[in-house]
Amino acid sequence: MASDTARQFVNPEMPGYVGFANLPNQVHRKSVKKGFEFTLMVVGESGLGKSTMINSLFLTDLYPERHIPDASEKINQNVKLEASTVEIEERGVKLRLTVVDTPGFGDAIDNTDCFRSIIQYIDEQFERFLQDESGLNRRNITDNRIHCCFYFISPFGHGLKPLDIEFMKQLHSKVNIVPVIAKADALTKKEVMKLKRRVMQEIEENGIKIYPLPDCDSDEDEDYKEQVRQLKEAVPFAVSSTTQTLDVKGRKVRGRLYPWGVVEVENPDHCDFIKLRTMLITHMQDLQEVTQELHYENYRSERLAGKAAPQKNTAPDGGISERERIIREKEAELRRMQEMLTKMQEQMRQKQSDDSRQATPSPTNAPLPQSD
Ligand code: GDP
Repeated sequence: MASDTARQFVNPEMPGYVGFANLPNQVHRKSVKKGFEFTLMVVGESGLGKSTMINSLFLTDLYPERHIPDASEKINQNVKLEASTVEIEERGVKLRLTVVDTPGFGDAIDNTDCFRSIIQYIDEQFERFLQDESGLNRRNITDNRIHCCFYFISPFGHGLKPLDIEFMKQLHSKVNIVPVIAKADALTKKEVMKLKRRVMQEIEENGIKIYPLPDCDSDEDEDYKEQVRQLKEAVPFAVSSTTQTLDVKGRKVRGRLYPWGVVEVENPDHCDFIKLRTMLITHMQDLQEVTQELHYENYRSERLAGKAAPQKNTAPDGGISERERIIREKEAELRRMQEMLTKMQEQMRQKQSDDSRQATPSPTNAPLPQSD
């Protein structure tokens, strides 16, 4: 009798059978409960519309008490980094979004040093994560690493400025850079295309590695493939923004009103605002993964290599020191955790692609990611 009951629970055909296929659901539920953490940095000269764009992207006021310095203040000002965090909830999914602004960037007469504090800030977040990972409370680490950096390019020049090139060159190995052409409504469609081509050409010529949107798997949904193709084609995203809502012939639109007409921020024929938002939302997880696997790993291995200098870590008898032993144990444990996570993510992806074959995704206005 007892063996019959046991058989009931291992037969996948029986109702009530609980199998491994449920593992991704657990991961999904846990991630939704915990919420997502994402940190976005915005860099670019002041006045290019960074704060307006962030407020319009997330429909929130991240800069309630902003002080805009005058020219005399700017002369003596270094880049200051200001992090603001908001919790956004959409259909039960929580996103803890931190936006790091860099006021003062490019404002000084001599800008040669203006990325030093940005690099330092990014490294500090990596260092904090590294310390937390090896600390006692590593299950509850708050991830403040910068997952993405929107770099604003002026629409008024003929391409990149030396400052733009220098910034991207110094930062591309530390953060995922997404170039954005600001105030696109200042340019005609033809001028936007010309500037985009020029910017991409200069990025390539200078060996700058911006965030590469990943290629789609061959078994991916056709709509999704098309969406990714359009997103790739749109880089650098040419964006106009506003938080104003206007009434245009009975339609409520978010737009900028000019004497000659309205620039509709969310109209893909007017600018790439929606494309930029879609890229960010649909690639949040990939941006986090690239941060973890590429940028953080670079930092971590540099730090460990620095620390593992033979004279520091070799014991007097020539064997490995206690410190080196601990580091190696931690590395092994991290690798194990990483492998476990990768397996779970693989299962989730499999489940998502099974699910998406049944559901029809919307090409724009994509919802927040609902899984891992
Ligand atoms: P930040 O200093 O880069 O944060 O720039 P702000 O967001 O404060 O914007 C500076 C000025 O540009 C403000 O007067 C905004 O209303 C205006 N602005 C913001 N976005 C746009 C845009 O897309 N197009 C145009 N033409 N003006 C914009």
